[in-house]
Amino acid sequence: MKLNEHIAQLKGYPTADKFEYEVGVMSNENNYGPSPRVYEAISAIKDVNRYPDPLAEKLREKLAKYNHLPSENIVCFSGGDEAIRTILGLFLQPGKTLLGHAPTFAMYPIGAQYYGAKYDAVPLEKDFSFTQKQLDSLLGKSAAASAIALCNPNNPTGNAIPLPLLEKLLDSTKAPVLVDEAYYEYHGETVAKRAAEKDGNAIVVRTLSKAFGLAGLRCGYAIAPKEIADALLKAKLVFNVNSVTQAAALAALDDLPHMRGIAEKTVADREKLYRELSSKGYAAYASTANFVLAQDAGGVLYQKLLANKVLARQVKIPGFPPEQFVRISIGTTQENERVMALL
Ligand code: PMP
Repeated sequence: MKLNEHIAQLKGYPTADKFEYEVGVMSNENNYGPSPRVYEAISAIKDVNRYPDPLAEKLREKLAKYNHLPSENIVCFSGGDEAIRTILGLFLQPGKTLLGHAPTFAMYPIGAQYYGAKYDAVPLEKDFSFTQKQLDSLLGKSAAASAIALCNPNNPTGNAIPLPLLEKLLDSTKAPVLVDEAYYEYHGETVAKRAAEKDGNAIVVRTLSKAFGLAGLRCGYAIAPKEIADALLKAKLVFNVNSVTQAAALAALDDLPHMRGIAEKTVADREKLYRELSSKGYAAYASTANFVLAQDAGGVLYQKLLANKVLARQVKIPGFPPEQFVRISIGTTQENERVMALL
């Protein structure tokens, strides 16, 4: 069978190493787990013989409340990844270009390739910051782009685009701009309000995999101008968010204090890890998410953690040797202390 050329060339998503571990700090998950209400809601489910609500209306309403926005601007997906893939499908096709920055989350170049489109990335500064230079460079290229994807906060570097620069970019281009706010709950800055504006060009992606602790259930959502939200509702697979996930997500959103308490602890522990890495001589990058990136020449720290049953993530950053960087998620306070004791 002959595959489409661009599909044959897909490299696939670089998933975490498969080693045995006691402490998993490789996938930016919430190691505390979700609200206990989530498990109660799941065990109360009785009607899995029925199709789920294709529009996930209750969930969209609850997400609307959480974001102080109308539910007509919200569309639910089976994870942020599905949201990204579906959004890119509205704008990309062979011959078109998706614009972004590098390094960033692999799903944008993979998504572009899935649609046979090109991916063009503007390099971040040496310290991975996003400055006026990146803004100018993106704007210079944006007329030729069908969409722009920005990861904010950025995975794997942890930094965020300064809000005034992001706002300026949104004001200065007509291209649709996907702003991936998977780590929003640890940072608190958002362009969600703009994304709900009529004729706006921002489309925000969020996930319940991180602060809400539902990575295994796959729930994400988009916040978009109504006409884009309507297009997404038609473009997505009909029953993309299953009934267990819808019930679990509703329960998680009913317990915001649980989520906020964990996000707060995670942020405090992230700062401790960042300071400890820096004081022990590792070149670490200040983070606004639930992980810290550090330089790790030769993978020495990664291996030491692994030898002590702590699995972190080596991230390949273009222009560097494959083992130059280690990304460490913030687990529980106890897990974070175990990581710090090994530095
Ligand atoms: N965006 C970013 C930047 C991420 O890091 C992730 C998770 N790795 C996602 C989106 C997607 O998460 P999920 O599909 O689990 O919702």
